[in-house]
Amino acid sequence: MIPLEGSHPSVEETRRRQLVEVTIDSLAELGYVGTTLAQIANRAGVSPGLVAHYFGDKDGLLDAAFRSLARRVGNQVSVRLRRVSTPRGRIQAVIDANLAPEEFEQRTGTAWLAFWGQVLHVKSLRRVQSVYQQRTLSNLRSSLKKLVPADEAQRLAAMIAAMIDGVWLRAALSGWREADSESARALLTAFVDGRLSQAASSQSAPSIETPALPGSARARTSGPHGGERFASVNPATGKVLGLVTADGSAQVNAAVVAAKKGQEIWAAMTGAERARVLRRTADILRSRNRELAELETRDTGKPIQETLVVDVASGADCLEYFAGLAQSLSGEHIDLGAQAFGYTRREPLGVVAGIGAWNYPLQIACWKAAPALACGNAMIFKPAELTPFTAIKLQEILLEAGLPPGVFQVVQGFAETGRLLTRHPDIRKVSLTGEVGTGKAVMSDAAQNLKNVTLELGGKSPLIVFDDAKLDNAVAGALLANFYSSGQVCSNGTRVFVHRSIKAAFLGRLVKRVSAMRIGDPMNPETQVGALVSEQHMHKVLAYIERGRAEGARILAGGIRVTTGDLANGYFVAPTVFDNCRDDMAIVRDEIFGPVMSVLEFEDEQEVIERANATEFGLAAGVFTNDLTRAHRVIARLQAGTCWINHYNVTPIELPFGGVKLSGLGRENGRAAIEHYTQLKSVYVAMGDVDAPY
Ligand code: NDP
Repeated sequence: MIPLEGSHPSVEETRRRQLVEVTIDSLAELGYVGTTLAQIANRAGVSPGLVAHYFGDKDGLLDAAFRSLARRVGNQVSVRLRRVSTPRGRIQAVIDANLAPEEFEQRTGTAWLAFWGQVLHVKSLRRVQSVYQQRTLSNLRSSLKKLVPADEAQRLAAMIAAMIDGVWLRAALSGWREADSESARALLTAFVDGRLSQAASSQSAPSIETPALPGSARARTSGPHGGERFASVNPATGKVLGLVTADGSAQVNAAVVAAKKGQEIWAAMTGAERARVLRRTADILRSRNRELAELETRDTGKPIQETLVVDVASGADCLEYFAGLAQSLSGEHIDLGAQAFGYTRREPLGVVAGIGAWNYPLQIACWKAAPALACGNAMIFKPAELTPFTAIKLQEILLEAGLPPGVFQVVQGFAETGRLLTRHPDIRKVSLTGEVGTGKAVMSDAAQNLKNVTLELGGKSPLIVFDDAKLDNAVAGALLANFYSSGQVCSNGTRVFVHRSIKAAFLGRLVKRVSAMRIGDPMNPETQVGALVSEQHMHKVLAYIERGRAEGARILAGGIRVTTGDLANGYFVAPTVFDNCRDDMAIVRDEIFGPVMSVLEFEDEQEVIERANATEFGLAAGVFTNDLTRAHRVIARLQAGTCWINHYNVTPIELPFGGVKLSGLGRENGRAAIEHYTQLKSVYVAMGDVDAPY
């Protein structure tokens, strides 16, 4: 019997264990047949009588050795199970313990193999094997039942157990050449994730209520927990997609309590363990790409051809990137001479809040959650009330991937719910994506208890096309800078400055391409321009177009709402290009957040830099030129946080993203984000005596 931790084994127990270890060595070297009592006694340097005294005969000794191996795996399973609380995490614990590196060592592995060969012939070994197998199945089944229906749980548990045995056996029979512990675990993990996501999509129970309310997205009634219930509308059809209940202070407070509990568990896990959960989340997101993209398209009105390749993928990339960083978070060592040294610890902030805008709901949730979670924080996320659905899916997927409960939670609602987060004394940071006005309100609320803030706000960014630019690239860049997601992109380059000498040619090619863009049902894969997010927003965009016309700008393309055929009830605006623009026009000054491009003319570099910088915003900027030195010279002088040379609106996760001036504070993505989700603790360590002058 293995003594309890902390108690001391007796001499007898120590001797028994010694003999068991010698038996395992012998089995590894000589196999079952070659292992005899005399041979064990000889190896252990004791008399055969003593071995017989402890174990009776050879079968007794081998039985004890087999039990010892099985118990060791059992103990490993228990230890790992104690560390996790989610069903997915518990399944992983069983896999990881059974396929741990030590089970792939030549010595242990060959001993196991010797036993498996005898199980059919030796009754006592069969008993041990059966108990071991039943325990594995029952551990798997009980966790699986929380994720899939009972009969599927039964089937899946048997499959996982069989795969564990199969992978291990194959490695053993190939002399440990064909598989190692890590790749075996990766194989099982991918299998389990695949099956679970298949099961989840076949259940497909969206946590949204069935539509009952006709009317607009802002229709409010009373919900089940007393909070207001609001309808989310498909902007392409004007039809209600589902009802959501706004969370009030009771729900936000409960979320904070759960987040604090979860955060303690999460922060105590190693970076490698956290990374694993984030990587699994990325895998599940990718495996459910189509389903999530379709939901995002219905909720936002963006074309499926965009959501299929950008929204989910960018979220998954972000999770994967920060999974990588989670394993490398560290402080530094500081040499303070012979008598002392110092070090810094990079610690999580605790519970943090994310508040999202409606243009990239899932991507924004991932861009905030990934760095926050990688650093060991818990996050409470509020999506925009216009697009509430995919954040809930992210919460489900994170749980499925093994995130402890409470570590990522979604609360729903309007600005009032957001305010409950920004003012909450136990929330240590708020990361907002939204308008400048909202940014100011959030920062002011956060100041009451000195929360950290990251603000990703609006912009009115310049895109400068010099006379030596490759024209087709510049036109393509201008299209990407204005019409992706129907122009609802914060970093859009809506002030397109084109050098006087090439403006006519630029406009000719631009208008031709804009006029050929396909506006239509966002679910149709051919559609390039979908709907704007809401009726109210569409009217705002149309009002700006009218104002541009009234102020003397000339419309070269678009400028109208599109209501043909099936689009009649949706909120579609044709991609619009204005020429004859002046810097003081409203369409050139204000963020419209719709498919409206203003083209401006310039003569020289100094002039265009000054005009490009003459705005309160500073989110992004782009330059098209073939002159290498000019490109870098101009970029260095532009007041913007995110810049492109000869491209526009590409946002790889590796590059920090964010703005200057009124466009925001802090950065998302890249290593820079780590700074915004951690705090440093400085530790002074004395190595000598304390010399006090008192
Ligand atoms: P809003 O500022 O209207 O809303 C953003 C989020 O903040 C929503 O969830 C909103 O709730 C919530 N909110 C509103 N008021 C408060 C408050 N006082 N306290 C706490 N939360 C609050 O932005 P939009 O959703 O209209 O998004 C468009 C804006 O986002 C544009 O200006 C765009 O430029 C910017 N944006 C910036 C990006 C960047 O990275 N820089 C990227 C994408 C968008 P609800 O709406 O549900 O009531």
